[in-house]
Amino acid sequence: MLVSATEMLQKAKAGHYAVGQFNINNLEWTKAILTAAQECNSPVILGVSEGAGKYMGGYKTIVGMVNGMIEELGITVPVATHLDHGSYDACLKCVEAGFSSIMFDGSHYPIEENIAKTTELVKIAHDNNMSIEAEVGAIGGEEDGVIGRGECADPDECKMIADLGIDFLAAGIGNIHGVYPDNWEGLSFETLDAIQQKTGDMPLVLHGGTGIPDDMIKKAITLGVAKINVNTECQIVFTEATRKYFEEGKDKVGKGFDPRKVLKPGYEAIIAKVKEKMELFGSVGKA
Ligand SMILES: [Zn+2]
Repeated sequence: MLVSATEMLQKAKAGHYAVGQFNINNLEWTKAILTAAQECNSPVILGVSEGAGKYMGGYKTIVGMVNGMIEELGITVPVATHLDHGSYDACLKCVEAGFSSIMFDGSHYPIEENIAKTTELVKIAHDNNMSIEAEVGAIGGEEDGVIGRGECADPDECKMIADLGIDFLAAGIGNIHGVYPDNWEGLSFETLDAIQQKTGDMPLVLHGGTGIPDDMIKKAITLGVAKINVNTECQIVFTEATRKYFEEGKDKVGKGFDPRKVLKPGYEAIIAKVKEKMELFGSVGKA
């Protein structure tokens, strides 16, 4: 059964480890991540972007697939299905579809509008036993066009959003989505520390986990990060493993063209990557 992410993240924050959100794209992705979580005895959050939701045939399809796998693969660790960077409308659709968690990304709205919409969605989510993540808009941006530095959130705005009753908070601390540029300046621990001091027990979320050095990840966890989003990294290892299969001509040998054979190396690469991340985040054995 799907559970909200609230309890798993409160435990993570108190226990000084982080739970991974791994974004899913299809059946293989989902099965790989659930398998890794079960083998690591770790809680897990399956992230679904709006685009991935459409791609997989809609949010209800995803809920059906995940619930089916939990039952038939004997998954006993806590699993949440979480809308990643949702619009207001997508949040409502995920409530209806039976997701167990949503992220409302109102970071592009002025703070007043972000507060108004987040407040509404907090009530709706909690009325449905779901957890909700919100995001605070970034400050800075004076280096337009130069992405050597990720944006940093204002700790006072973080406190305002945290006080709306959300369950966990995403705030920019110099992190970037996708692949980090060579001139990236690293995470701003000063910002993270200031945010944690203002928001207390609130579990903090680190987006853009791909390419952040391990020592920075570990330090961020000591400063209150309890959820880390991993997306790009699984895509890269999946694609590398799949390319290797074709480059080695394995599709031309016997029934190597069978899609279940074609997708297997990528599937196994995701399992290995997710396990590696669970070790790094400290969530192994915490289910
Ligand atoms: Zn994100």
